[in-house]
Amino acid sequence: MAGIKVTVWNEFLHEKSSAAVRQIYPNGIHEAIAAPLRAAGYEVRTATLAEPTHGLTEDVLDHTDVLLWWGHVAHGEVQDAVVEAVVKRVWQGMGLIVLHSGHFSKVFRRLMGTSCDLKWREAGEHERLWVVNPAHPIATGISETIELPHEEMYGEHFDIPTPDELVFVSWFPGGEVFRSGCTFVRGNGKIFYFRPGHETYPTYHNTAIQQVLQNAVQWARPVEGPNFQRGNVKPLESLHEKNDFVK
Ligand code: ZN
Repeated sequence: MAGIKVTVWNEFLHEKSSAAVRQIYPNGIHEAIAAPLRAAGYEVRTATLAEPTHGLTEDVLDHTDVLLWWGHVAHGEVQDAVVEAVVKRVWQGMGLIVLHSGHFSKVFRRLMGTSCDLKWREAGEHERLWVVNPAHPIATGISETIELPHEEMYGEHFDIPTPDELVFVSWFPGGEVFRSGCTFVRGNGKIFYFRPGHETYPTYHNTAIQQVLQNAVQWARPVEGPNFQRGNVKPLESLHEKNDFVK
């Protein structure tokens, strides 16, 4: 974990406008997500919407291996230039973990290429997340299920491309199910979407949820892969000797 640089981005608005949210997350959702990652040994910084460039300057992105994204009411206020910079970094290999209502963020929709729409209901329902891919690194140390006593419901159909891998499926008492833990690869970058995390519930204080986020950071970190040469290239072999059609 040492040396892995993590940036936690939060729009940081509900915590300022709602006493109920502030009571659960007095230092902001970003700090609740960041603290356990710091305790696990990652180098963690935070960034928020109100900061210049939303706290995601080129310098910050230069020093980010994995970016976590929590947004809800202000997706439209995120500058397109910042969205493009984040998308470009993902293509280059930066890991991206999109949380809860971040399904509607410009960054996630741009990378998915679909509406990312879903069903929802806020009724404090019990959420049961089932691990459906026990061999996946993101499920390391997680029980068969994660039980969240109260959460917002998200239901299918979730309008995303078919995920590369499915790690969690959620069940809700109202009858809905949801693909709650999905992985994607875009360019060299690994993306994990993780559903739980509504602002009025203490989801990010749950140790199993914290473990999933640690696992996801570990999984999504960039690897030292090859640098591919693209565009017009010279042949690696002599075409004249091996191909009669080339004169
Ligand atoms: Zn929510």
